[in-house]
Amino acid sequence: MATYTKVWAEDTSKLNKLELAKLEKDGLDVIADVYRYANLGFDAITPDDMDRFKWAGIYQQKPKTGHFMMRVRIHSGVLSTKQARAIAGISRDYGRNLIDVTTRQAVQFHWLQIQDMPDIFGRLAAVGLSSFEACGDCPRTFIGNPLAGIDPDELMDTRPLIEELSKALHLNREFSNLPRKYKVSLSANVYNTSHAEINDLAFVPATKEIDGEEVVGFHILVGGGLSTKPHLALPIDIFVRPEDVVKVALGVTTIFRDYGYREKRTHARFKFLVADWGADTFLEKLTEIIGPMPSRGVDQGKGWNAGYFTGVHPQKQEGLSYIGLSIQVGRLSAEELFELADLADRYGNGELRTCNSQNIILPNIPNEKIDEVLAEPLLKRLTPFPKLFAGHVISCTGNEFCNLAVTETKERMKAISNYLDEHVELDTPVRIHVNGCPNSCGQQQIADIGLQGALVKKPDGVRDAFDIFVGGTLGPDARFNTKLKGRVEGDLVGPVLERLILFYKTERTPNELFYQF
Ligand code: SF4
Repeated sequence: MATYTKVWAEDTSKLNKLELAKLEKDGLDVIADVYRYANLGFDAITPDDMDRFKWAGIYQQKPKTGHFMMRVRIHSGVLSTKQARAIAGISRDYGRNLIDVTTRQAVQFHWLQIQDMPDIFGRLAAVGLSSFEACGDCPRTFIGNPLAGIDPDELMDTRPLIEELSKALHLNREFSNLPRKYKVSLSANVYNTSHAEINDLAFVPATKEIDGEEVVGFHILVGGGLSTKPHLALPIDIFVRPEDVVKVALGVTTIFRDYGYREKRTHARFKFLVADWGADTFLEKLTEIIGPMPSRGVDQGKGWNAGYFTGVHPQKQEGLSYIGLSIQVGRLSAEELFELADLADRYGNGELRTCNSQNIILPNIPNEKIDEVLAEPLLKRLTPFPKLFAGHVISCTGNEFCNLAVTETKERMKAISNYLDEHVELDTPVRIHVNGCPNSCGQQQIADIGLQGALVKKPDGVRDAFDIFVGGTLGPDARFNTKLKGRVEGDLVGPVLERLILFYKTERTPNELFYQF
């Protein structure tokens, strides 16, 4: 029997079909089944178990030819070269050489088959990685500061806290049956590297004077999320000392588990409960569960860097720098990841970092070695100095592999950004995000320009098209972008955006950013 909630267990009559299936068998139980199906073959997989495969981090991909997508959790984006080589090896041996970096610092494989899974699970476990709970109604990959530990703009190294959070929440059957997916972030970088406002629970840097001493800790925001009904997370009036992070996370997650909505899948994300309750009721319930906490201190956020770190930048350690590489639309090959791991071993400290901007950082490079690294042939492709538009694009998976997609996204986004780089000269970045459907894995609502896949009917048939949204941002001015009238055919998006951006360029006031326009 799965762990279940106090409130819903009393009356299961209103639960949706998936909730009843989760009650019958916990999502985590499907991991053992994956091993069984690896022997029995694809055709033996029952529809209910196919749905539960999400808890193992795998989804059936499009086209439905018996292949799977797998997502691997990388907390805070910290990846050793041993882990990077394991990922590259899985991609080479089973995943047709593709690796996608996601908007939650995770990586995704495609083209995997059920008989491959035991070996893949084993290879991941051997290097301390896992796909389990990278998907499903449970705590997903924890977003963190990709520069944790080396960051001149962080209040503390948050890597140990992310590890503690993961130990407390992941693969914990107390929390493996939540009403929906549950996204947690924690970062002490003052430029909001973790996109705090769009997480279900976000820890952001703060300080407070307690007993005459200034304590460095966190504030929390709860109930953020995108998809069709986006919500910005609400600040809650508590200050969290580092030693209380796990306690607070357990309390907040307990609220979601026990009071989150389970009737309609489309109304089950934490954001709906938080919006209905409001910050005061939420704090009352949290206090009831974890006891009183100190009230808010001083928020230390200074802005939003949108998760971008491209270029060469000094670390907090004297004499060392990090190189932020641009991975256009987050896709790289197995060979490229092998090569990156070699560079990290040769010049750095055997580490890479993944970013929620779908890019990768090469950390801990001695300053005297920077020119040598920049001269490496790989950095001509995965460049730290991308063209303006190519270096600021985010894309979801799209209809190449995603069953929910309406349109193709990654190749389209590459073509659009390359077109803009050829046709528009601009002195400030304009971030463009694309989603292949309204679910928003490409986080289009927070983009300067968001594109959402749609279709248009033409006399000669149906064609790919995009709805266009403008003016999204996070940080102090956080707001979602606004839909423009009309729908633009896929092949015309580049020229339409060219006009839009040139209009901004000629009409803006001095220093006016795109989202302020
Ligand atoms: Fe698939 Fe839609 Fe998510 Fe894109 S946004 S990956 S199309 S579900």
